[in-house]
Amino acid sequence: VQERLELLKKNAYNTVNSLLEDSALALAAKVDAKIANGEEIGLLEGIPFGIKDVYMVQGTYTTASSDILKNYKSAYTATAIQKLLDAGAIPLVKENCDSFGHGSSSENTIFGAVKNAINPELVAGGSSGGSAVNVAKDYTVFSIGGDTGGSIRQPAGYNNIYGLKPTYGRISRYGIMAYASSTDCVGPLAKTIEDIRIVLNVMSGKDGKDQTTIASTEISEQAISNNNTIKTVGYFKNFIENEAIDPKIKADFLASIEKIKATGIEVKELDFFKSDTLVSTYYTIAMAETASNLSRLDGTNYGNRIEGENLKDTYSITRSENFSEESKRRIVGGNQVLSQGFSDEIYLKGLALRDQISANFEKDFKEVDIIISPVTPNTPPKIGDSLKDPLAMYLSDAYTVGFSLGQLPTLTVPQGTATGLQITGAKNKEQTLLKFANFLK
Ligand code: GLN
Repeated sequence: VQERLELLKKNAYNTVNSLLEDSALALAAKVDAKIANGEEIGLLEGIPFGIKDVYMVQGTYTTASSDILKNYKSAYTATAIQKLLDAGAIPLVKENCDSFGHGSSSENTIFGAVKNAINPELVAGGSSGGSAVNVAKDYTVFSIGGDTGGSIRQPAGYNNIYGLKPTYGRISRYGIMAYASSTDCVGPLAKTIEDIRIVLNVMSGKDGKDQTTIASTEISEQAISNNNTIKTVGYFKNFIENEAIDPKIKADFLASIEKIKATGIEVKELDFFKSDTLVSTYYTIAMAETASNLSRLDGTNYGNRIEGENLKDTYSITRSENFSEESKRRIVGGNQVLSQGFSDEIYLKGLALRDQISANFEKDFKEVDIIISPVTPNTPPKIGDSLKDPLAMYLSDAYTVGFSLGQLPTLTVPQGTATGLQITGAKNKEQTLLKFANFLK
């Protein structure tokens, strides 16, 4: 714990929003004492981990990397984090990320752009960029990210580690700062499949404080051993015929297909919606939900208040000064698609498309056990580039957002490539995913 805290303090990667140094050292001392006494300790006891700065942890700053909440201290602890604390894991750091999860590069933050662990001139990916880099650089053993449209999978891919977005509802959202409530998922980033399995097991389960949570069964080490049970794997033809795909990513992906075929698994081409449709459907819904979720941050109950001449002015100045350009773009866009005269044409159409996307997945999973794709069509951009071109940034989410709309479990498998392989299963098939990832090693 001490060593990793030192590394985080020296951190030149901009992964740290706040360090939980005193509490981490106190917890570590307790574990040391137990070991010295010859007492048995649990699997996660004493294991240092990081937390994306969108989770409430009582008494810590939870800033969402934003000006509006830069002085906000959590009054309570998120269920998923509480379960890890109960298992004895030690939180070291609240991690830098895109403000409120808005972004794919971890540059939309008041704490400075997070640098990629492999090449510091490139972005770490986002929005859980700090979490991915801390794991990749061994500052934390695992980190807890949040994934609404790709924010765990994409930085995991850019930094060559594992990152799991579980089935929607498998892990409670209570205590995570809401971005788009209908796709927000809590999940782990780690260097091994075994770590992902252990942390997933601890965090999963129904929670009275989140009515969308579902029951799930524990995944045993045995159940994900590397003997293969997968017969058929599918991929979306248009994802790799899409003109926006980087040639290197296409070549790496085609090589993965050949490798899978060589093991005797059947690989099938599948039809799917165009990238543009997926990205517009996702952003319509995500912007609408974030506009609604962030309306509470007006400087009255929450948020840094900037006084104006009257109440309306106070709201307006507080929100204009304290939200980032990217967050404001989404709030304005979201309010527009929800407003009278636009909602039928845009928002309701988005919801209808989402139903069609989910139906398409149901059909696909009658034919194949797993769907594979690259995590992104592009390699990580240079720091500074994404901020200049938000539309290009949205399009880089083309391969992750569809699975989020479908609320499916999906895992980034590092391949030593620029973006990683994304493997997706039907709802609640996390066990199948982890087993297949083990087989691919
Ligand atoms: N890049 C996507 C977005 O900005 C996904 C972010 C996320 O999953 N939090 O919406």
